Amino acid sequence: MKKILFLTFFAISFLTCHSLEIKTDYPQLTDNNLTTYYIGTKGKEKIILQSPSNTAMLSYKIYSSGETPPHDPSNWVLKGSNDGKKWTKIDERKDQKFCSRYQEILCVIQNPGNYRQYMFEATTADKKEKLVIAEILLSEKNMLAGWENFKYPHIEFESLNPNTEGSKVYHKLVQNPDEYIKYHAQKVAEILYYTANDPINDVQNIEYTLEDKEGVSAKGGNSPSIHIFYSTRHIEKSAKESLYKLDFETRGVLYHELTHGYQFEPKGIGNYGNNKTFWACIEGIADAVRAEAGLFDMSTRKPGGNWMDGYRTTGFFLQWLTTKDPDAIRKFHLTVRDLDVWSFDKAIKAVFGPNSSIEGMWNEYQEFLKRQ
Ligand SMILES: [Zn+2]
Repeated sequence: MKKILFLTFFAISFLTCHSLEIKTDYPQLTDNNLTTYYIGTKGKEKIILQSPSNTAMLSYKIYSSGETPPHDPSNWVLKGSNDGKKWTKIDERKDQKFCSRYQEILCVIQNPGNYRQYMFEATTADKKEKLVIAEILLSEKNMLAGWENFKYPHIEFESLNPNTEGSKVYHKLVQNPDEYIKYHAQKVAEILYYTANDPINDVQNIEYTLEDKEGVSAKGGNSPSIHIFYSTRHIEKSAKESLYKLDFETRGVLYHELTHGYQFEPKGIGNYGNNKTFWACIEGIADAVRAEAGLFDMSTRKPGGNWMDGYRTTGFFLQWLTTKDPDAIRKFHLTVRDLDVWSFDKAIKAVFGPNSSIEGMWNEYQEFLKRQ
């Protein structure tokens, strides 16, 4: 029972909330849970989605399942209708490939219109294979807005110990590591910045290695060129529970390490090795981004500690600030660039006004945690 709750929780927090209540005969496609699937029986499937209004849908996301890639949708058409009889093609995609399991493909609708019903028709690449889809998310927003011009880094991926169990199961999860890392690079930038046109602390090259050694993951170097290592031993351990658990962990760790590439570093207070405020700021923001992405088990959030403790203790606090201002993480991060001599208190004042303070905000957060 505990395990089921655990997985459901993860899955719910993983996806952004559906803004409209879309109804279908296949609730597993719209339940915000990537571990429940629509499983087709024929080569060609028709999935009807009912919208509560005829507001035009501008974009959608399709999620791959935890099954093997031949079961993924490869070619699809999206149609719209108001009477269920006359259907108009509003989007079409061919030869799509998901870079990993439980992965989204985001499509901006080519020919949007005001419809109450949508029909998603998809086929697998080899039409003999059964079609499996984890989730469909329709949105009346353009979910790519502001990020069309994101400059992806160049990725050099290498598995240094390809015969380890960890390396093998990684490739079961991730079919195209370059695309998987690029996707997460953009997602990290979306949490730290407003649009791709902001002056982003630009990462141009990422060397990413899977290595058979102790530890979890670490980032070296500084933008424009960074190196990230991910332990095959840690991968093997994380995969013991399920492939979904491995995915959750792998994405979470990647969000954290990529944040180190894209984040600004505090000025005027020493460095990562010799100043605790510097360290707590860097590691706190990295875990705040991971939490904002929905990739922590938030039930581990407990009262106690201090904002200077770094990692989750600081990260969960910074993420909680988004309940006061949805842009709190972005604004907090920009204080790191803008303040000459950075401190937590100055950063809180810069975001929430001169009457606020780090103590006051932390105490309020502690009260919130106690009520949880
Ligand atoms: Zn870190």
